[in-house]
Amino acid sequence: MKKTKKGLLLVSTLVFFLFIGYQYAADNTFNNQSDENNPKGTRIKDTNDMEHVSNNNVSLNDKMERTRNEWDCVKPNEVGKIMIIMYHNIGNEESTWSRHYSNFKKDLETLYKKNYRLISMKDFIDNNIDIPAGYTPVIITFDDGLEGQFSFIRKADGINIHPNCAVRILESFNEQHPDFGKKAVFYINSYPVAFGQPEFVKEKLNYLVKNGMEIGNHTYSHKNLAKITPEEIKEEIGKNIAMIKKSVPEYEVCSLALPYGGIPKNLAVVAKGNWGEIKYKNKSILLVGAEPALPPNHVAFDPLKIPRIRGSERYLQKWLEYFDANPRERYVSDGDPDIITVPQDLVFQINKHSLKGKVLRTYNRSN
Ligand SMILES: [Zn+2]
Repeated sequence: MKKTKKGLLLVSTLVFFLFIGYQYAADNTFNNQSDENNPKGTRIKDTNDMEHVSNNNVSLNDKMERTRNEWDCVKPNEVGKIMIIMYHNIGNEESTWSRHYSNFKKDLETLYKKNYRLISMKDFIDNNIDIPAGYTPVIITFDDGLEGQFSFIRKADGINIHPNCAVRILESFNEQHPDFGKKAVFYINSYPVAFGQPEFVKEKLNYLVKNGMEIGNHTYSHKNLAKITPEEIKEEIGKNIAMIKKSVPEYEVCSLALPYGGIPKNLAVVAKGNWGEIKYKNKSILLVGAEPALPPNHVAFDPLKIPRIRGSERYLQKWLEYFDANPRERYVSDGDPDIITVPQDLVFQINKHSLKGKVLRTYNRSN
């Protein structure tokens, strides 16, 4: 059953790419036509356009049939919702602020089987979602810089990464399933020290950056930004950056997770500013709860208030089941980061000003 499903997906993906190829072949002006005031004036493609395509090898009718089935199978929806999962510690216990390491492994397994693939926070906020057709992006975040997220152990042969910390679990899962990816973002504080082992802060932060993971700002000392002054907010953000730069001077932190989810009155102070000579710019600001996020091209997308879902048994299960039951709400990639493909009935949800050179393509989904 599993193999059949995988095989079907693989074949579907291949056929989908073929279809994209034919669309370009059918109209080489595809990229040049758009009309911001008229969604229908945007170069809209559907399977009827295929009638203009000729090919010597396979009968047109055969291809038409295959590609029609393909749209129905892949159903790209690049204005659908994306889960940004919020974890705290990964460890030996299961509680509000800790996910048992065996359950974290299980979460990765479940996400993988349900065709979710990891993307970085940076690619999300830069609208550069690059995963194969038919798959759904997911972002994993960790708050508070706890030792269970990234832990070193001393052994006779040197220093190793703890096998049950989040970083190693992600890496080892990715070794078995390289198409899943190992991207994650760690929202750290500098007081208390990030990841609990003061002697290894520099090594750990450098390791994360070298291995394609991200460092995010969670303020210097985990202050509730809704309860302090703008000047104190600047200090909490800037001082944390100063500490991070001591370990990774070239790294640009571009995202912040609000401690306790506390939203200050003036979010602009959090988004951009400076603390003395330290400048900061948070392109994305993350909340604590409590629902999947909208993608960057959605009309209601707000980069300064991005919701997350809890990485707990209850809530992760809840949202996985939700998307199983409501597949039309789920973001499904068309496989091409330069093209935004949405069903025709959802084109009204697209913020055309956010496309910035990307091509908008729509299609009619059958049901
Ligand atoms: Zn926190």
